[in-house]
Amino acid sequence: MADHSGDSRALCLFCRIIDGEIPATRIAESGEALAFRDINPQGPTHVVVIPKRHVATVVGLAAASAQELQALFALAGQVAVDEGLDAGYRMVTNTGGHAGQTVFHAHVHLIGGRPLGWPPG
Ligand code: 5GP
Ligand code: ZN
Repeated sequence: MADHSGDSRALCLFCRIIDGEIPATRIAESGEALAFRDINPQGPTHVVVIPKRHVATVVGLAAASAQELQALFALAGQVAVDEGLDAGYRMVTNTGGHAGQTVFHAHVHLIGGRPLGWPPG
């Protein structure tokens, strides 16, 4: 179960998805990470991969635990294989307001299934 001991955790959308309080299309998980489909997909495949422990950003996650960061990217890579994204895909970690981060629980967007423009907007 996610740790809801702090205010930000109690209000965290992704912690509530982890706990099953908010429904999501969960497609893969490990002991430390969970993958589910984004509710507003930006490509044929758009999966959100999150650590099960509440941390606001991936940078915060890296500072706290290299093992959890490894688990996050390992699950994202496994989902890319499972989704058949052999033509390529993008992993995105929006961090802060200018980057458009709206949910302050660390997450990786895994987007693929179409050609992706560069640079991002
Ligand atoms: P951010 O904008 O923080 O980088 O990414 C948050 C992502 O969470 C967005 O792509 C948004 O579509 C997705 N999202 C927001 N609310 C929900 C929800 O209730 N369920 C699911 N599956 N995705 C959500
Ligand atoms: Zn959270």
